[in-house]
Order: sequence, then C-alpha cells, then structure tokens
Amino acid sequence: MKRIILATSNPHKLEEINSINKSSDIIFDVVKGDFTPEETGKTFTENAIIKAQEASRIMKTYCLADDSGLCVDILNGRPGIYSARYAPTQKEKIEKLLNEIKQVPNEKRQAHFTCAMVLVNAQGDIIRTQEGRVDGYIANEARGTNGFGFDPVFYLPKYDKTVAQLPEEIKNTISHRANALIPMIKWIENNI
Ligand code: IMP
Repeated sequence: MKRIILATSNPHKLEEINSINKSSDIIFDVVKGDFTPEETGKTFTENAIIKAQEASRIMKTYCLADDSGLCVDILNGRPGIYSARYAPTQKEKIEKLLNEIKQVPNEKRQAHFTCAMVLVNAQGDIIRTQEGRVDGYIANEARGTNGFGFDPVFYLPKYDKTVAQLPEEIKNTISHRANALIPMIKWIENNI
C-alpha cells in the first residue's frame, strides 16, 4: 500500500481523484488543516510545483499537486491559470465567459481544460510531472447539473452533451484530471 498526500485541503478534489483511482494500491489523503499556498506561478505546472512542495514541507512525504483550468482559443487561452479567480462565483464566471464570446460562432468556440500534475518526494524534489487535457467547445448556454466549475458550458461533440450533462463515471474517464492522473498512477505503481 502506498500513501500519497494530495496538495489540497479540498475534500471534493479527494473524492474526484479517488473515483478516478479505482484499482491501484495507492491511498490518497489530503493535507490536514488549512492549506492555501499562494499560486504565483505563470503556468499550471509552476503552480502545481508550488502546491506540491509546500505540502511536502508540511507533511514530509510524497505529495501530488494538480493545477487546472479552462483555456479558450479565441481568448488566447484565457482564463487559463486564472480560471478560479475569473469572477467571484461560478455562476458569474459562466455568465462572464458567455458574455465575452457571445458574438463568436460555434465553430470558433474551441476550448480545452488542462490539468498539470506534479509529484514531489519527502524532500520536495520533483520526481514526475504529467499533463492532461480534454478538448471541446464553449456552449451558447449552460446545460446540466453534474460536476462543477465550467462543466455546464463545456460541450463535447462526441457525446452531444456538456460535461455537466454527463454521468460522473464518464467524466472521470475522459477528463483532463483523469488524463493526467491515470498515467501518473501507473508511474507511481512502477517506481515508488
Ligand atoms: P483547480 O486548479 O482544479 O482548483 O481548478 C481551477 C479552476 O478551473 C476551477 O475553479 C474551475 O473554475 C476550473 N476547472 C478546473 N477543473 C474543472 C473541471 O473539471 N470542470 C469545470 N471547471 C474546472
């Protein structure tokens, strides 16, 4: 059994990671107490490094951090690393995004979610990085109630649904987080 600390104090993230990690011998846990390192990086990976190293300083063991966000092509990749800070509430974030691109035709509304994962050891050395992404389009209106964040406006042509209209089990096989975590888990199983 391998124990890895997730560099977050957010129980929702632990839940999502656990539902992606169904069949390995890794037990994930979160940092105890309030954990809010300042995300001053210029890329998703830099922010994940900051979180992973801070968690390992506190917990003194292997720590895994992820940093993710929504990148919209016509907005030159915004909101990107600022996705969490794009507007005060999730409802406002969605409204702001739909408003920013309201004149943009469907075929030019390409976007992707990116997830950068970084694994550090007990000394805080980076031992593995992994990126995952999922490509789609920004819908014209919010649809669906599953998931969180921008899921109601992230449309996947393959399913003809937004991510918020998909069952969680499907999201957890195709998401940017799953695309980063699945190879990361394989690497941990083989190397730690
Ligand atoms: P975090 O780095 O995972 O905390 O994500 C930062 C922000 O990106 C979140 O606050 C959401 O707005 C957005 N985001 C990240 N992952 C997802 C997702 O799976 N669905 C919808 N929005 C997401």
